[in-house]
Amino acid sequence: MENSKNQIIANRKRLFSHPDWNSYKFQLQNRIKAKDLENFFLLNPEEKEGIENSIRLNVGTTPYYLSLSDPFDLNCPIRKTIVPRKEEAIFSPEESIDPLHEERLSPVKGLTRMYKDRVLLFSNHECSVYCRHCMRGRKVSYSSEKPTVENLNECLTYIEGNSDITDVVISGGDPLNLTDGKVDYILGKLEMIPHVKICRIGTRNPVTLPMRITSNLCKIIENHNNDSLSIFCNTQFNHKKECTKEAKEAVLKLIKAGVSVGNQCVILKGINDNGETMLALHQKLLEMRVRAYYMYDPELIPGSRHFRTPFAKGFEILSYMRGKIGGMGIPQFVTDLPGGGGKVTMTPDWYLGFHRQTRYHLFQSAMAGTYHISPEPVGSPYDSTYKEVDPKLWEKVYSHVSKV
Ligand code: SF4
Repeated sequence: MENSKNQIIANRKRLFSHPDWNSYKFQLQNRIKAKDLENFFLLNPEEKEGIENSIRLNVGTTPYYLSLSDPFDLNCPIRKTIVPRKEEAIFSPEESIDPLHEERLSPVKGLTRMYKDRVLLFSNHECSVYCRHCMRGRKVSYSSEKPTVENLNECLTYIEGNSDITDVVISGGDPLNLTDGKVDYILGKLEMIPHVKICRIGTRNPVTLPMRITSNLCKIIENHNNDSLSIFCNTQFNHKKECTKEAKEAVLKLIKAGVSVGNQCVILKGINDNGETMLALHQKLLEMRVRAYYMYDPELIPGSRHFRTPFAKGFEILSYMRGKIGGMGIPQFVTDLPGGGGKVTMTPDWYLGFHRQTRYHLFQSAMAGTYHISPEPVGSPYDSTYKEVDPKLWEKVYSHVSKV
């Protein structure tokens, strides 16, 4: 029988007041799985169908992340991240389980090498929350793909044997779901490889399980964050509802361990695909001392059409944000090219081109929409390399552009 509203409220209250709430082990041991979602949400038919047919990605959330969601509002951004919808079972022709060719670009199991100097190390496949938009569903939901200790050591040996690798991104799954001992082991190994200078930990735990950022974990990270190795952390906050007091504490602990924390959000339809929501998120992030890094166009993974937005949305969001927040709060809008072409950054066209006769560049202010010119330096040999400004536009705006 379906839970009543009162029953759902009571279930939540009981769980959220547990004495061990602040223990990350309690949070992981009491994760809410697919079959339990009905005890914490008043589900609609689309969600029930989504839960029933969720084959591409595990379902699970920590009680903490659940506590940020609304049990009755279908439009709650956190709920949309936790509860599958029926559209998730529809695989569209443009989608692929590995759109970025991470497997084809893998010299050894558990490692992807798309760039000469950087590699992506998949340390584990566990996550605290299984985000419905996850692009690593092919890994995190298949135990056969789970890396073994031997795989991990082969990856580390490969990195050691390739001296042009200077930067290692540890991802998964979520690397901070490994035990402290394993995190210590991996960072220790990387620290000992002389050509590896940078390590970036990709983790959503500050968002979904901030209690995991314990003093002990931070001490381990701090120990390896030294002259030999610089450790960064990139996380993924997608909505200001995720920017809680607990999340801020977790971020501050990482910062105290000398780790610079950046955010890689994903534009998700119906969750954050407008300028106001993204601006509010990035304002909160700066208050938490998290710098904006990337704003991703969602990957073409199976069952994700309902999350994807037109490219124009990204431009609209950036245009809206420009002038309303400092540059540290404005992410780079990027798409990871399908087929393994790497990332490209995209910006709205504020540069309108070069006028060869006057040798002026023409710009439009992102903030005010006004036109402005700036001269190319005298003697510059680059005139022929610039795109030419539209002559009609130049004629129209030149007499009233803002000049120095
Ligand atoms: S935490 Fe990251 S890897 Fe895990 S499900 Fe969420 S997006 Fe995917």
